[in-house]
Amino acid sequence: MPVSLKSPAEIDAMRRAGRVVAEVLALVESELRPGVTTAHLDALAEAHIRRSGALPSFKGYPGANPRRPFPASICVSIDAEIVHGIPGERTIREGQLVSIDAGAIVDGWHGDGARTFFIGEPPESIRELIETTRLAMMAGIAAAQPGNHVQDIGAAVEDVARPKGYGVIRQFVGHGIGRAMHEDPQVPNYRSGLPGRKLEPGLCLAIEPMFTLGSHEAMMLPDDWTIVTRDGSLAAHFEHSIAITQHGPEILTTV
Ligand code: MG
Repeated sequence: MPVSLKSPAEIDAMRRAGRVVAEVLALVESELRPGVTTAHLDALAEAHIRRSGALPSFKGYPGANPRRPFPASICVSIDAEIVHGIPGERTIREGQLVSIDAGAIVDGWHGDGARTFFIGEPPESIRELIETTRLAMMAGIAAAQPGNHVQDIGAAVEDVARPKGYGVIRQFVGHGIGRAMHEDPQVPNYRSGLPGRKLEPGLCLAIEPMFTLGSHEAMMLPDDWTIVTRDGSLAAHFEHSIAITQHGPEILTTV
């Protein structure tokens, strides 16, 4: 998918999609407690998306297996699951690390965002993992200035993870976003060795670091979707969709 630059009117439509995503994440957070099923969280999310006049972009999204498109409106990834966990009859429990990823389409324009939560009072090591992943996302966003390059984003993210010794997932990366959920350019969460595309006003990106308490290696479960850490270590994931404007980055996935 070629890189496309969005007009102010198009960015405004993406703001509306981003707002729905932010509302879904807040709604799911308010319902996250021991005893709820992940399918229940998904049902709430889908109802909110449709009530808002939006469409759930994840539902029916094609994956590694053409016979198994993603069956739900949000991803719910627990503990060692990094991304793409499928909602179902699993029950949320105290002491779990839960990552929620949500996507919505408004008038053909996409929003994509994610956050990680802990159920209960987190141990210090996990609180730090969550907060550091969020701060790395914010550092990546701050680096998304017109005139910088894609690699400046990855460098900023990586520089937040490195002192903590976290694994930085390399197999999955951020991406351009617009009429499609995944557009060029790819946005790695590390220095790729090449500057990459120059950032300019109208470019919209999803910036989404995924950090682990262990190694960066990931693998897919036999359900053809769920991505887990190979060493079983815990993982956190934060994501905002942003627009690059002449004044700097603007977060779109916010209320
Ligand atoms: Mg994304």
